[in-house]
Amino acid sequence: MKNKTTDIVIIGGGVIGTSIAYELSKNPTLSIKLIDIKKEGNATQASAGGLWAIGESVGLGCGVIFFKTLSKRKQETTNGVLETQRPHQLPPFFFDFCLKSNDLFPNLWRELKEIGGVDFKLEKTGLKFVMYDDDDKAYAENIYNSIPHLQNQMKWMDSIQLKEDEPFINKNAIGALTFLNDDQVNPYLLMNAFRDAAKVQGVEIINDEVKDIEVNNGKVVAVHTTNNRISCNTVINAAGSWAAEISSMVNVSLPITPVKGQILLSEKMPKILKSCLSTSDCYIAQKDNGEILIGSTTENKAYDTSSSYAELQGLASGAIKAIPILKHMNCKRTWAGLRPGTPDEVPILGPVEGIDGYLNACGHFRTGILTSAITARIINDLVHLRKPEIDINPFLLNRFKDKMKNEPELV
Ligand SMILES: Cc1cc2nc3c(=O)[nH]c(=O)nc-3n(C[C@H](O)[C@H](O)[C@H](O)COP(=O)(O)OP(=O)(O)OC[C@H]3O[C@@H](n4cnc5c(N)ncnc54)[C@H](O)[C@@H]3O)c2cc1C
Repeated sequence: MKNKTTDIVIIGGGVIGTSIAYELSKNPTLSIKLIDIKKEGNATQASAGGLWAIGESVGLGCGVIFFKTLSKRKQETTNGVLETQRPHQLPPFFFDFCLKSNDLFPNLWRELKEIGGVDFKLEKTGLKFVMYDDDDKAYAENIYNSIPHLQNQMKWMDSIQLKEDEPFINKNAIGALTFLNDDQVNPYLLMNAFRDAAKVQGVEIINDEVKDIEVNNGKVVAVHTTNNRISCNTVINAAGSWAAEISSMVNVSLPITPVKGQILLSEKMPKILKSCLSTSDCYIAQKDNGEILIGSTTENKAYDTSSSYAELQGLASGAIKAIPILKHMNCKRTWAGLRPGTPDEVPILGPVEGIDGYLNACGHFRTGILTSAITARIINDLVHLRKPEIDINPFLLNRFKDKMKNEPELV
């Protein structure tokens, strides 16, 4: 009798789940199901689509949060001296993770377009950190000097070069540090491109909600959805901000919490930006269809996805300061999404001791669009019992072991 067990069930059909489905579907002997129900605030549909490998690793991607919560970038120290508070850099292994992923995108763009027919609009825009004052300049110099091996991917622009490149920039801007390979995509289309290519290669996509995972003698044996029981050998948790709910089904605690990000989108405008811009107030990205996306806040508001005037006004004024002509823009839409946050801002990938057949692929916080490509390759290697191309240790859940023992509120 034919064995009806599915080899792999992927839970979550955002950019992470679909990228894994696509990568695994290259092995035609595997039977794969992806189960997804779109929850309010899912991160992929809320994202800006930046592939800001260096920008995100040095903390620029959503720097606005850090600045705003610290009242205009200034924080009082214990001795009363005002000093600038800037977002922190992530460790060197995280740079490698992001850079390797970024390098995969040009081929991925060709492959996915050919297999599934979806063009996810890879745009070679670069990302400029725009400087208004000496404080910004010192910050940019610090970034530049702290990563000497990446200086060939960065370029300084003085105010004249910046104005030549970006004629609509604030005339008081004193220059920019450009990250030459930090590009952008359309995040919806990236997710659809992975999904459709995976479908073409045999992955079954199921629109349903996972309610439970059945474990027998420490081994995953089935996934229960609202409508079905699906027996399987391996389950991959790619449920974004809901990953902890899924892991609790196998009695595993994940320190993943939703981190709210708000965005403002303009109506279509003529092409006025050459690059994506990051400033100390916001980031600004003109998408391929002319719409201008202005992001984003970082708020600890649990699963709240409301749009709030004060935060959106802050983003809009930051954008108008950078590109004064934006004061004439019409606003098309605002929204909020939930980044799957971890305490150290690094994803949680790979197996968990004691649960055979369970893999984490979650906690991608603010870089899941960028790092979807490398995540899929790592998980594919783990499924095939191969050593991943990057060291998996810093991404394993057990890095929090001591912390979780000492601080049970994290889990
Ligand atoms: C405002 C904002 C801007 C961002 N900008 C960028 C950017 O410029 N560049 C970048 O790289 N990243 C960016 N990010 C981060 C990026 O969007 C996320 O890291 C990424 O989308 C995470 O993908 P995911 O697949 O893990 O999660 P999600 O996209 O949230 O997908 C998880 C899926 O699982 C589903 N699910 C949950 N529970 C269940 C269940 N029980 N059963 C079935 N399905 C379930 C959810 O509904 C959802 O569809 C941004 C995020 C936000 C919010």
